[in-house]
Amino acid sequence: MIIYLDNNATTKMDQEALDEMMPFLTERYANPSSIHTFGGNIKNDIEKARQRLADLINCLAEEIIFTGCGTESDNAAIMSCLSLSEDKRHIVTSNIEHPAVLEFSKRLEKRGYDVTYLKVDNNGLINLDELKNSIRKDTAVVSIMMVNNEVGVVEPIKDAAKIAHNYGALFHCDAVQGLGKLPIDMHKNNVDLMSFSAHKIHGPKGVGALYIRKGVKFTSFITGGHQERGRRAGTENVASIIGFGKACELSKKNIDLYTNGKVKQLRDKLEKGLIDNISDAQVNAKDAPRSGNTLSISFKFIEGESILLLLDELGICASSGSACTSGSLEPSHVLKAMDISHLYAHGTIRFSLSKYTTDKDIDFVIEKMPGIIERLRKISPFS
Ligand code: PLP
Repeated sequence: MIIYLDNNATTKMDQEALDEMMPFLTERYANPSSIHTFGGNIKNDIEKARQRLADLINCLAEEIIFTGCGTESDNAAIMSCLSLSEDKRHIVTSNIEHPAVLEFSKRLEKRGYDVTYLKVDNNGLINLDELKNSIRKDTAVVSIMMVNNEVGVVEPIKDAAKIAHNYGALFHCDAVQGLGKLPIDMHKNNVDLMSFSAHKIHGPKGVGALYIRKGVKFTSFITGGHQERGRRAGTENVASIIGFGKACELSKKNIDLYTNGKVKQLRDKLEKGLIDNISDAQVNAKDAPRSGNTLSISFKFIEGESILLLLDELGICASSGSACTSGSLEPSHVLKAMDISHLYAHGTIRFSLSKYTTDKDIDFVIEKMPGIIERLRKISPFS
């Protein structure tokens, strides 16, 4: 028996997405760039998938390119903004971004670019005044995530994008954890570039997308072919793009489950069940807007990894809030940036739910967790 509560890592693929993909892995194998009808028809299917993502985020299909993953979309977006002007060599981002932005920014620093990392408060929120003060004449891009993958905090993207524009910078948003969980309407925000990934919304792994607002100049990161209207070279991962499109169509119908429906109700039930039954536990990002599927919770005096191992023995899949840095387990960069006290941060677990999570799953976790924590605290040198 598997109880899968690690949906921010990846999700189970929708059967309907797989069904739509299968012909493109078997009999419909032509290259979409070929002149013959066999290939040309496949191009039409790719365009249908593009339209499905466009419908989910309310933009034009031509504003979307498909990429190899969310990480590529993030890298490509930032690189493009930097390539537009030789004089603009400054980036503003936050210190709770996914490594796809954070590590890329650090690499850029080594190449001579300047990066400002915005601090976050105890709930993981950036400060808009700090953002305002950090933008300079040579700032090429501000890159802030929509939803943090570890704690689920939702950043004030719309306001941040407005500020970036007021001060002459482009705005990129990593919305990999926002897609399908929050309503996204590109007509209602000022974002220039936005990154997505299929495998977080019950689509296949190895395909992502980048939204590029009409009129925003874009320089391709991967060059060589004319695919994606010259904006992303390489023969398309056709089947995965088709699966991504179907997953988008299904996601559009299911957003309410995450904003105030079943998924959020189950997350809230889990949160209450754990807080009510376990002492010295705290919910991270509790006082900020949070994604409806994510619960990051810290237990004083114990190690998240030990909790994970005992959960694993019961078939429960979750994540810890640690990162392996030079062989030792440290609280993640996100928990450190939020200034979560060490005694709690080490004992952090992330449960992330999906539309496939059931009441039974959550009841089982609520039943088992108090015993696990008690057992570990008994042998903890800190408690
Ligand atoms: N950005 C965020 C916020 C993520 O959570 C992830 C994946 O965990 C990524 C980017 C990277 O996406 P991908 O796995 O498609 O490269």
